[in-house]
Amino acid sequence: MVALLAAFWILTQYPISLGPTLAIFAIFAVMIGALTPDLDQPSANLLRRTIGGKFIHKLFTAFSGGHRHFTHAIVGIIFIGLLLRWLTTRYLLPEFHTSALALWYAFMIGYISHPIADTLTDHGVPWLWPLPWSIKIPPGPEQLRVTTGSFVENILVRGALLIAIGFLLTTHWVTLLALFQ
Ligand SMILES: [Zn+2]
Repeated sequence: MVALLAAFWILTQYPISLGPTLAIFAIFAVMIGALTPDLDQPSANLLRRTIGGKFIHKLFTAFSGGHRHFTHAIVGIIFIGLLLRWLTTRYLLPEFHTSALALWYAFMIGYISHPIADTLTDHGVPWLWPLPWSIKIPPGPEQLRVTTGSFVENILVRGALLIAIGFLLTTHWVTLLALFQ
């Protein structure tokens, strides 16, 4: 939800038209991007349910140095972003490059919004990994941050996010609909 809110908000600031098919793919790219940083988690359900997922998951965990490390850190974000850009420009035909770039932006918006949201939770995010500091906002006291899976997260935060998304959709629906044109 944080990812969609971020994507919609960016869209109101920088409106674009992708056409109906690409627009739907872009929304999916935002959501996939938002789920990707937690593929290093033992319970990453996206991977576990897919064939070969266990292998990719093991590789990912070995590489990432444990949950919320590499995939949530600045070096990891830059690495994954550059890798995806390189793969698409290297292996896609030139006529698909513009569409791929739009999807890449969508994926990265979703991806980056994830560690930003995690920063507001009780565990924080090691943005500077491999340096050991976990960055949390607000830095203290503990009670002010959102506990993952808690009542506050489940009801209040999700409710507030839904209201914010609803507010953006109703106040900017012309701009947001233009994405599909
Ligand atoms: Zn996370």
